Amino acid sequence: MLNVDQSELKKFEDLAHKWWDPNSEFKPLHDINPLRLNLIRKFVSIEDKDILDVGCGGGILAEGLAKNGGRVLGIDLADKPLGVAKLHSQESQVPVTYEKISAEELRDRERKRFDMITCMEMLEHVPNPIETVRACADLTRDGGWCFFSTIAKTPKAFLFAIFGAEYVLKLLPKGTHEFKKFIRPSDLSKMCRSSGLEIVDIVGMTYNPFTKVYSLGKDTDVNYTLVTRKV
Ligand code: SAH
Repeated sequence: MLNVDQSELKKFEDLAHKWWDPNSEFKPLHDINPLRLNLIRKFVSIEDKDILDVGCGGGILAEGLAKNGGRVLGIDLADKPLGVAKLHSQESQVPVTYEKISAEELRDRERKRFDMITCMEMLEHVPNPIETVRACADLTRDGGWCFFSTIAKTPKAFLFAIFGAEYVLKLLPKGTHEFKKFIRPSDLSKMCRSSGLEIVDIVGMTYNPFTKVYSLGKDTDVNYTLVTRKV
């Protein structure tokens, strides 16, 4: 059985045409993109690396990685976001390869192939995140890197990521996130370790609603990225 929730995919299918509009529902992804690219570059150079972007959507991160010199394959299971990603890559002339396939299926073909895997803002939308984490680990070469970002299962995340972002600030459509699918950093760390990934760092991200500025830091109570390496 495929590790996918069709109602989650539908949320992204319905909005796909707005993916590259920086003032749309995807504004948060546009705003955090420079930060996450900086975060990655703090640990490893992107240039000349074989990179897999899992749950790439319309390709905001995938193109950013490619602009930094990575050879990027973006995968997703939603058709429309992938269509938007392909068109945008052609128009912007930032070469990225896209494919509709799950990480679990790709594993059989490309085991240990990638220097780096990014799986960002995606795990909180899948039924069994550990299966995705395992597949990412298997797709990474020994010594390669996996970056996972998601939302922590804390009361503060409920307040900021759901109530604040969806109901008060209206940064995201209502229903984008479900609290029960959020993942504590300690739980994601366990999933990584049991899949053969060693935890290198955990970096938090916060949003200041007054200045509208995102920053990286130590606060991992809401949004965070787990930086891991295949041992
Ligand atoms: N990673 C991108 C997009 C995040 S939006 C970024 O951060 O910019 C979440 C994406 O995950 C959507 O494109 C959605 O279609 C995708 N997704 C959800 N479930 C998935 C699954 N099981 N396999 C692959 N992609 C999935």
